[in-house]
Amino acid sequence: MKNQNNLHPVFDKILNRPDKEKLLKQHSRVIWLTGLSGSGKTTVGRQVEMELNKRGYLTQVLDGDNIRTGINNNLGFTEADRYENIRRIAEVSKLFMNCGIICINSFISPTRRIRHMAMGVIGKENFIEVYINAPLEVCESRDVKGLYQKAREGKIKNFTGIDAPFEAPLNPDIELKTAELTVEESAKKALKFILPIIEYNSK
Ligand code: ADP
Repeated sequence: MKNQNNLHPVFDKILNRPDKEKLLKQHSRVIWLTGLSGSGKTTVGRQVEMELNKRGYLTQVLDGDNIRTGINNNLGFTEADRYENIRRIAEVSKLFMNCGIICINSFISPTRRIRHMAMGVIGKENFIEVYINAPLEVCESRDVKGLYQKAREGKIKNFTGIDAPFEAPLNPDIELKTAELTVEESAKKALKFILPIIEYNSK
């Protein structure tokens, strides 16, 4: 019979989060971008990712494009579905983070309750809240995907900023006013906060 102590001989060789952070020479976090549709979450998130990659940091962007079409393709926009959407995103982010990867999330995540839940899953100490702040009129005039027009015409219900609320973060780690800053300026401001946190310090 096999030695009982030797049933899982590889387990003690499996790397944990600190080991993986060491391997990647970075501290992992979840950077959570919240704001109205069209405020610039995706644009700024991608810019931040590019700047981090240039400096050798490994990142993963999560946004509607890779989440709503995949793992969450069975969810809509009712309050319960929005909550479940964010809960799964938070869990997925945690997996990336525990793998040492810096996760950049671009989701409207409109209420304090929903963001608080996400923070609870990820852990307060791991969560960097970024408020992508642009006035509704600006977001509406950008209307990247034509969604505001549809919402105004009543073709989309529960659209954040039109007939569903957006609650601004009370105390975000970073606030980026994208109607006043260029994409590059926003990314620069975000990096100033993020880089000292993720920089690997082998002490
Ligand atoms: P969200 O992900 O928040 O819905 P997007 O990033 O998809 O927003 O869309 C924002 C739109 O606004 C993009 O078309 C972007 O090019 C444009 N835009 C114009 N000026 C800025 C700026 N200063 N910062 C961010 N986005 C801007």
